[in-house]
Amino acid sequence: MNDVKKILITGESGFIGSHLIKHFVFKYPHYLIHGLDSLTYASNKNLTKDLIAQPNYFFHEIDIRNRHEVLDFFIHHQISDVIHLAAESHVDNSIANPLIFAETNILGTINLLDAFKEVSSGRFHHVSTDEVYGDLDINDRPFDENFAYAPNSPYSASKASSDHFVRAYYKTYGLDSVITNCSNNYGPHQHEEKFIPTIIMSILNNQSIPIYGKGTNIRDWLYVKDHVEALDIVFHNGSKGEAYNIGANNEISNLDLVHHICNICVAKNYHSNPKKLISFVADRLGHDKRYAINFSKIQEQLSWKPKFDFQTALGSTIDWYVTNFQS
Ligand code: NAD
Repeated sequence: MNDVKKILITGESGFIGSHLIKHFVFKYPHYLIHGLDSLTYASNKNLTKDLIAQPNYFFHEIDIRNRHEVLDFFIHHQISDVIHLAAESHVDNSIANPLIFAETNILGTINLLDAFKEVSSGRFHHVSTDEVYGDLDINDRPFDENFAYAPNSPYSASKASSDHFVRAYYKTYGLDSVITNCSNNYGPHQHEEKFIPTIIMSILNNQSIPIYGKGTNIRDWLYVKDHVEALDIVFHNGSKGEAYNIGANNEISNLDLVHHICNICVAKNYHSNPKKLISFVADRLGHDKRYAINFSKIQEQLSWKPKFDFQTALGSTIDWYVTNFQS
C-alpha cells in the first residue's frame, strides 16, 4: 500500500456522514475519500451530489451486512483508514424492529472490522452515541468515559455492542481504533423522522407538533458541524484504543426545545402562533430521562470544544428546512 491515505467513510449519505464527507473531501484534497452507503430510506444521495466532480471522492453503494462484498471492496481499493457511521439510527424503529439494528449495527461493524484487520494499516474510527451509557436522573453527574455501559433501547444496545467489538479488536488484535460517543446532533440534512426536523416540519405544514409524555426528557444538543470538527480531531490526533465523549453543555428539555423553535419560527415569520400546535402523545417505551455529557477529556487532551451558538445554529437549521422542503 502506498502512502496516500484511502479513507472509507460509511453512512456518507446520511445526516452526519454527509457533513463529514464534505468536510474531509474539501479540507484534505491529498486524501482519497471513499464514501459508502447502502442508500436506505434514511439516506439522501442529493446531500453529497456536489462531491461528484471532486477528483478525490468516490461513492460505493454497498450494504455493510454483505460480508464478502465488504472484504472485496477493501481489497480492491486498498482502504487504509475507516470512519464508521453507517447505522440504523432511529430509536423508535429499533423498538418496532430490533433485528435489523443487530444486523447492521453489530454484524455490519464486525464485517468492517474483519476487512480492516485483513487489509488496512491505518485507523478505525467508530462513531457512536452517548446513549450507550443509559440515562441519568436530574441530579446525576454527566457521563464521562468511565461510566458503565447500560443501554436501554434496542438501538443503544446495538451501538453499545458494536463499541465493545471495536474495543475487543483493539485489545485482541492490536487494531488502531478510536471510539467517539456523542450527544444528540441537530442541523441541516437530518431525516424528517427525527425530533427537531419533526418539530420544524410540523410548524411549516401547520400540523400538530407531537411531544412524547410531558416533554420533560432532557437532551444535550450539539450542532452537527461541531461534531464533524471533533471527529476530524479525534481521527487525526486521538490516542489508539481510547474513547472520547463529545457534547455541548447544552441541556434542554424537549418541551423547552419546542418552545425555542416556535419562538424562532415566529421571529422569522414562518408561522404566527406555532405553540398552539403542541400536542402531547403517549410516551416512547423505555424513554431515557436525561443525557448529559462530560467532554473534558477531548477538551483537555485534544483542545476541542463546541463553537456554534445554539440559537444561531438552530435558526439556520430551520432556514435549511424552509429552503429544502417548503414549495
Ligand atoms: P442516519 O440514519 O442519518 O444515517 C445513517 C446512514 O447509514 C444512512 O445514509 C443509511 O443509508 C446508512 N446505512 C444504514 N444501514 C446501512 C447498511 N446496512 N449498509 C450501509 N449503509 C447503511 O444517521 P446519523 O444521524 O447520520 O448517524 C450516523 C452515526 O452517528 C450513527 O452511527 C449514529 O449511531 C451516530 N450518532 C448519531 C447521533 C445523532 O444525533 N444523529 C448522535 C451520536 C451518534
